[in-house]
Amino acid sequence: MNTYIYIYVKSIYYSMNKIFQISSLFCLSLMSTLTYAQTKFKPEDTEFYTPTLRTVTTAANKAPSDAIVLFDGSNLNQWVSSKNTSQQAPWQVKDAVLISTPHTGDIQTKQNFEDFQLHVEWKSPEVIKGEGQGRGNSGIFLQGHYEVQVLDNNNNPTYVNGQAGSVYKQQPPLVTAVKPAGEWHTYDILYTAPRFNADGVLIKKGIVTLLHNGVVVQYNTQIEGTTEYIGLPKTLVHGPGPIVLQDHGDLVNFRNIWIRPL
Ligand code: MG
Repeated sequence: MNTYIYIYVKSIYYSMNKIFQISSLFCLSLMSTLTYAQTKFKPEDTEFYTPTLRTVTTAANKAPSDAIVLFDGSNLNQWVSSKNTSQQAPWQVKDAVLISTPHTGDIQTKQNFEDFQLHVEWKSPEVIKGEGQGRGNSGIFLQGHYEVQVLDNNNNPTYVNGQAGSVYKQQPPLVTAVKPAGEWHTYDILYTAPRFNADGVLIKKGIVTLLHNGVVVQYNTQIEGTTEYIGLPKTLVHGPGPIVLQDHGDLVNFRNIWIRPL
């Protein structure tokens, strides 16, 4: 009887061993086939022709053809007062330039945005007065909550995470991009909004890249929360929001503002 059991177990062992050998051979053969197939790719195997892409045209000092023009020098139709969003933006337009009019309050876009490419040109006041945060201060609030600082940065020392090109009170710029006083600066901002789940929990922080006069000064900077003057950043749950321009009591000039939702 024991002999029969021994033969039976032995035959199962040999069968299992055979199955294992056959499987291993099959896997090896599949891998070599795939490797061979990879080396046999033709260039056109990884080239595709859909979707059909939109064409965007550009010209010097003009918004790209698919941009939403927020200010082109003619009017403030795209803007309202932040104090009272049913009222017109109270800032002045003179000689095709938008001037931050002291003590009238911030202005903001009528439209709300999420992820975007934003272009803004700004210039510090002609008459230099004040110092540090008190000289040529304004700011661009992304979605109304996260300030990219605008400040006269010519021989005007201040805390580095509050100078021009900073994410205010969070991240200093990588370098100080300067221009002679009286010249126009450009900001090109690439922004990915923070994301919240259905329960209002932050699942991904906002990210910003900023080119100041064509120089990268913020590179995929993680935004920690609201840009507070006093205290730590706060997490606010929000959806799409406006672009806000800050009235900090200085005559900062703006022109050629456009945005491309992404
Ligand atoms: Mg400011």
